[in-house]
Amino acid sequence: MEKTKGELLAEKLTRKKKNIYETASAGEKKAIGVFAEEYKYFLDNAKTERESVDFAVEAAEAKGYKPFDGKKKYKAGDKVYLVNRNGSIVLAHLGKKSLEEGIHLSAAHIDCPRLDLKQNPMYEKDGLCYFKTHYYGGIKKYQWTVTPLALHGVIIKSDGTKIKVRIGEEPGDPIFVITDLLPHLAAAQMKKPLFEAFTGEDLNVLIGSEPFEDEKVSEKVKLKILAMLNEKYGVTEEDFNTAELIFTPAAKACDIGFDRALIGGYGHDDRSNSFAALRGLLDLKATPDHTAAVILTDKEEIGSTGNTGLQASYYRHFVEKLCAGAGADPIVCFQNTKCLSADVSTAYDPHYPDVVELQNVGKLHYGGIISKYTGSRGKSDTSDASAETVAYFKTLFDKNGVAWQTGELGKTDVGGGGTVAKYLAHLDIDVIDFGVGVLSMHAPFEVISKADLYMTYKAFNVFNKN
Ligand code: MN
Ligand code: MN
Repeated sequence: MEKTKGELLAEKLTRKKKNIYETASAGEKKAIGVFAEEYKYFLDNAKTERESVDFAVEAAEAKGYKPFDGKKKYKAGDKVYLVNRNGSIVLAHLGKKSLEEGIHLSAAHIDCPRLDLKQNPMYEKDGLCYFKTHYYGGIKKYQWTVTPLALHGVIIKSDGTKIKVRIGEEPGDPIFVITDLLPHLAAAQMKKPLFEAFTGEDLNVLIGSEPFEDEKVSEKVKLKILAMLNEKYGVTEEDFNTAELIFTPAAKACDIGFDRALIGGYGHDDRSNSFAALRGLLDLKATPDHTAAVILTDKEEIGSTGNTGLQASYYRHFVEKLCAGAGADPIVCFQNTKCLSADVSTAYDPHYPDVVELQNVGKLHYGGIISKYTGSRGKSDTSDASAETVAYFKTLFDKNGVAWQTGELGKTDVGGGGTVAKYLAHLDIDVIDFGVGVLSMHAPFEVISKADLYMTYKAFNVFNKN
């Protein structure tokens, strides 16, 4: 039947977005699946910023990247990386054009919400032994109880040696847990609002229960564990003062649903975009036109603070040195740099429609989410990309078959959030937020779409190529 005038007009004039699984070719669907497997490997093997930096260094070196030397002159085709204090890393593939024409930059964060050990973490109570924690980032505390936890991090001993800790990730490893009250006795607890039912000081992790056999000792379980740790690592209780130990969920990344189109795992925020951005750069087959760079940064979840967060100067210093070696003006380089601030947004959850505005929320399987602005209460604290910047990326994505959508983090005035975008904007860079949509953001087990992840990777890759 012939289409009516109205139907034809509607086709031409109204906005249309399609589910990637309804439009992707068989070849693309296969690529989506392959990329998801590689990503799950990354999720399981890089659960902290330190481990993510190590992973990035290994992957980059395999592709010919060399440690950055600020005194050297680099030329087109050179590949360098700079590790900043084990917490963040910058990688760059030098392009054919002058650095004064700007860098094509992607910036994602590799820190995730979790439970950090306090400096004096260990105590025994009534025959059971625990680690005290101080949570890191925005969490719903009850979600972190009764979930298997793994211990990651480093201990610096008094003689200066650094011990890497990773317990709860290999088959047969012990894991750790925060216990909760049985429902039979929880009548009073269950009447409390969620944020009162579990406080920060309740996040104590069970680490042992077997007493040391000696009648003369008072804290027998604690002593038994200290003796085991001393035997294994050569550490004493005081060495916890100089440690950076982190409880992450112990769960492995896996497929979700009968159709396996989603990935469940810890830390999609923001390791999904970190991995996509890293691979987008490392998979370049030829020297790019513009210099392509990726920042994997730390401390985003606590405000991009500290000297490994993006409020610090490490990226600026890197570009200044790079420009000095090339005889380029770093100010001009920053002015002409374009950046994808690569972070997750919320994906529409049918069970929580009230907090989002349906016309402006990202949906699973509809591609990477472009957010012109983030922030809260009247765009407060956002960098708000210009229409020109949005247009640049829209055109680039459309030309290269990258599925994308727009999305806002929730209804106006319901809440909101920020990213590293504003700190890059401070450097005089054109920056826009872009990334994968997530269900259950900041929970120990988050959910994303394989198709969205792949399209996000494709976006970084075409951006880096140009
Ligand atoms: Mn994030
Ligand atoms: Mn976050």
